[in-house]
Amino acid sequence: AKHAGKNTYRFFDETMDERMQRRVAIQQYVEEALQDPKQLMLYYQPQLEGAQQSISGVEVLLRWQRQGEWLSPAEFIPILEDSGQIVELGRWVMESALVQMADWLHRGVYVGELSINLSAVQLSSSDVALELIQLMEYYDIPSSRVAVEFTETTLMVRSAQLTRNLATLRAHQIKIAVDDFGTGYCSLSYLRELEANYLKIDQSFVKGIGEIESDECIVSATIAMAKGLNMHVIAEGVETQQQAQYLVQHGCDFLQGYGFAHPMPAEALETWLIKHAQHKGLSKAQ
Ligand code: C2E
Ligand code: MG
Ligand code: MG
Ligand code: MG
Repeated sequence: AKHAGKNTYRFFDETMDERMQRRVAIQQYVEEALQDPKQLMLYYQPQLEGAQQSISGVEVLLRWQRQGEWLSPAEFIPILEDSGQIVELGRWVMESALVQMADWLHRGVYVGELSINLSAVQLSSSDVALELIQLMEYYDIPSSRVAVEFTETTLMVRSAQLTRNLATLRAHQIKIAVDDFGTGYCSLSYLRELEANYLKIDQSFVKGIGEIESDECIVSATIAMAKGLNMHVIAEGVETQQQAQYLVQHGCDFLQGYGFAHPMPAEALETWLIKHAQHKGLSKAQ
């Protein structure tokens, strides 16, 4: 037993050590990547108006490829939040997305609103809102064409800096979307106070449509509540026709998910937009 205990301990220890090494490595790699942004890329995923399925926006999603290996944002974002490096990486995302948006506006490519993910760390420890506004002024992007997304959990710690950033966003009419709604811990009274423009229903609930009654219940109740609070609803992770139908029937305003389009590079999005305008609906390939 003693021996086994020792082994177990060592195994645990090694795993911790490996995880630690991976964290440190990613924190070093990102410094390289920021010096050599060829590794970094932005993908864009269409958001569609529910009934007509015309494009209403695109969500900006960061991609990172290092020496042939794709790193998952689900892995590296939390690590870079812990180290604070997300602030600088987030600056790169904002500026690159706005440069792309300026090009689309200039060339008359209509993508609706550009929706940028912001981390809690950016909102609570940097002047991210002011930086965004300065960049929008510099690249001549109207505020009607920009939204930011952050999760409910962001709102749990109400620091002075977070409050300042939210006030700045509102003062400049930048739209606010609460991401992954239903998975965090935001109180409904705070949600009302926030006056967000959009609630994004988390994809875990969308997945249950047609299968799990309690998920359907959460989806329809969320839509009803959002309506009452004057917010629009975006469903995330829409993959099937059945999900899309249910959502539209229950009054969901916007749909996003692999069933319509995966996130893709800017050029591929432009091709997709042309095809989509000709034939709206769930892509046959799915
Ligand atoms: P999110 O903001 O909730 O983004 C939605 C995620 O769901 C994306 O994963 C997207 O590719 C994926 N997705 C979209 N449609 C479907 C679908 O139909 N089915 C399934 N299974 N998944 C779908 P991704 O790109 O891996 O990003 C993961 C998370 O990383 C994002 O979640 C966001 O929290 C974070 N993230 C990504 N880019 C950025 C960024 O530039 N800044 C910050 N702060 N966070 C980012
Ligand atoms: Mg998002
Ligand atoms: Mg989400
Ligand atoms: Mg998420």
